Amino acid sequence: MSKTVSVCLSFDFDALSIWLGPMRSSSPSTISRGEFGAVGTERLLHLLRRYQVSASWFIPGHTINTYPNLVQKIADTGHEIGHHGYLHENPVSVSPDQECRILERGIECIRRLTGQAPSGYRAPGWSLSPHSIPLLLKLGFQYDSSLMGNDFTPYYCRVGDEASVDRAYQFGQEVNLVELPVDWSLDDWPYFGLNWSDYHVGLRTPDEVYQIWAGDFDFLYQQMDTGVYILTMHPQIIGRGNRILMLERLIQYIKGHEGVTFKTMHQVATEWRQKNLLEKEKKAT
Ligand SMILES: [Zn+2]
Repeated sequence: MSKTVSVCLSFDFDALSIWLGPMRSSSPSTISRGEFGAVGTERLLHLLRRYQVSASWFIPGHTINTYPNLVQKIADTGHEIGHHGYLHENPVSVSPDQECRILERGIECIRRLTGQAPSGYRAPGWSLSPHSIPLLLKLGFQYDSSLMGNDFTPYYCRVGDEASVDRAYQFGQEVNLVELPVDWSLDDWPYFGLNWSDYHVGLRTPDEVYQIWAGDFDFLYQQMDTGVYILTMHPQIIGRGNRILMLERLIQYIKGHEGVTFKTMHQVATEWRQKNLLEKEKKAT
């Protein structure tokens, strides 16, 4: 059976926003961890250019304002720019009105950069609030990438789920917002990120992570005819020397397989929607 596998490299360019926002840090030392994101981004752009890979970059408005030339370079190089909050705010920790204002502010930052509103959204911390999906629909987003309900198969987001602890969970209605699912095991931060405050110590060896990431790709390639493999990385984490060498090795490995294409997440969401129209959309066409 021939294979049709899409691979999306996605980069959350949090830069300083994650340290100033959710981490509430005022220490120049801590903040400088985010500053390294700009160094990592330059390296990643160079790597992606060499392998002719278009990636998806989820960038908070604060990063766009802090590094206007660098983010312009990302956009001008043909990569997709997605929404990732303004100051990396966790949607669960703000009111619905605040969440809407943050979404609008981030959209404006991206519109100034690319001339158009973003098609994709990734919640900071992958932490959608109960209000996020209706807001994303209202604001015209095409896809979200914050949920973990599948691994290599996109699906439609839902509204109206009802969670109860003493009766069965009620699944709501599918809506016209494609979910491109993620997972912590395909994210660089848990493996490599060091966080003293909650005793989470990453700093794993790149070889170990390569085995996990390549192993998941192998499952998709060997056992499924079609699917999408999505990696989530952060320039301030993956941009370090030995880790970026590991990423290069993984790109080479994946490129050695027939029927595999690197795509932006916008491309994948658009193609998937066309092949899997919601009932409501089918009737409308
Ligand atoms: Zn982030």
